[in-house]
Amino acid sequence: MSLEKTLVILKPSAVQRGLIGEITTRFERKGLRLAGMKMMQLDELLNEHYAHLSEKPFFQRVKNSMMASPVIVCCYEGVDAIQVVRSMTGATNGRVAIPGTIRGDFSVSSQENIVHTSDSPKTAIEEINRFFKPEELFEYKQVHMPYLY
Ligand code: ADP
Repeated sequence: MSLEKTLVILKPSAVQRGLIGEITTRFERKGLRLAGMKMMQLDELLNEHYAHLSEKPFFQRVKNSMMASPVIVCCYEGVDAIQVVRSMTGATNGRVAIPGTIRGDFSVSSQENIVHTSDSPKTAIEEINRFFKPEELFEYKQVHMPYLY
């Protein structure tokens, strides 16, 4: 059983709509361990974070949307956490995302889709290092671990 860490960003659409609690509650109830959490105002870091979208016509719009208010960045840990969190996230377009997923329940948009979540082990490592300093991540034991796995 190997534990993985993944990055979650609660986007301005989550912060402004008062969904921070709703969403973090889902990850807590699922059994993921919160390794780090902070509020940030995003800026040029987005050029790196969304480099794979730089040729898209909506690149600037997405960056503006991500800078519209502070965001909450979280690092969660669990067995297969990257895939678990991606499944809970749902499809990019909230109108297509399956009900029960975060985007399926809270979004009707491709852009204002509430959360960013890492999509592979490689990007998870890059993204965690991009948004967290090592001392901002905490290693502690979940006392209920024997009842999770
Ligand atoms: P995901 O967030 O599901 O991993 P991508 O990495 O493809 O999706 O896109 C990153 C973000 O860019 C999306 O979460 C969304 O905010 C925005 N985005 C993607 N596609 C579109 C689109 N067609 N129109 C507007 N914004 C988009």
